[in-house]
Amino acid sequence: MARIETVAVIGAGTMGSGIAHVFARSGFRVLLCDVAQPALDRALAQIRANLGREAAKGKLAESEIEPALARITPITDRAGLAAADFAVEAATERYELKAEIFRSLDGILPEGVILATNTSSISITKLAALTRRPDRVIGMHFFNPVPMMTLVEVIRGLAASGETFAATRDLALQLGKTPVEVNDAPGFVSNRVLMPLINEAAYAVMEGVATPEAVDQVFKLGMAHPMGPLTLADFIGLDICVDILRVLHEGHGDPKFRPCPLLVRMVDAGWLGRKSGRGFYTYGK
Ligand code: NAD
Repeated sequence: MARIETVAVIGAGTMGSGIAHVFARSGFRVLLCDVAQPALDRALAQIRANLGREAAKGKLAESEIEPALARITPITDRAGLAAADFAVEAATERYELKAEIFRSLDGILPEGVILATNTSSISITKLAALTRRPDRVIGMHFFNPVPMMTLVEVIRGLAASGETFAATRDLALQLGKTPVEVNDAPGFVSNRVLMPLINEAAYAVMEGVATPEAVDQVFKLGMAHPMGPLTLADFIGLDICVDILRVLHEGHGDPKFRPCPLLVRMVDAGWLGRKSGRGFYTYGK
């Protein structure tokens, strides 16, 4: 497989900017693509601030910040991605949107290039089947915040080749991450196991078994979790949690994944967690 030097990152939101950050910091050239310039400007400002934070902690030399930023080229015209040797899609979590991006990348990027997706829940196998290179489509699931979290789930769709898996795993290692091999199934491993924990914690609150604080304390003090499941749910976004639970419920056809009615009501009320200022806890500005 050709040497990977230039990486296309599609979507410059929370995850795309983090993914661009770690590739650029590791010496790769990055073509960072979003639909409009303001998203790219925000992403670059965020990456600059986060690189600065890393330098302040001594994880990076101050002198490496500007060269890393200079390796990132922001683009709005997808045709500019043709120069990439590897692509990671990190656009909004909607099937139709990702389907359109995959069909289009398949036409723009050279035949041998691997198309990876950072999706949290959409079937890798289904996205692969939309392209003429299903053997070269793979899940590369980073965790938020990307520069800090070391895990990458590398998810093999049904048609993914061993070569595609090995190249993606090696790339994750080059970023200083720890790749973990997973097969394609709704929620992969991370969300399939985490979301039922969050859901059950919400049931415990709904049924008056304990307060959110008490539920979280049980997990922090009894199971050595750095944060309890409800603090984590607020951090992820309760809307995202409900969306993922619905995908798990539908994909597995198993009622154990049914979203807790309290979670659904909170989302209906606009209590989405940290980002809206209120979830299981309240947050200042
Ligand atoms: P986000 O809303 O912060 O960013 C999405 C970005 O995609 C936006 O900047 C949007 O303008 C852009 N976009 C939309 N349509 C596009 C298109 N056609 N071409 C290019 N860019 C487009 O979302 P996010 O939290 O960064 O999530 C991105 C992906 O990562 C999703 O698939 C999500 O499931 C996955 N993910 C998120 C997390 C998380 O904790 N946020 C963790 C793991 C995986």
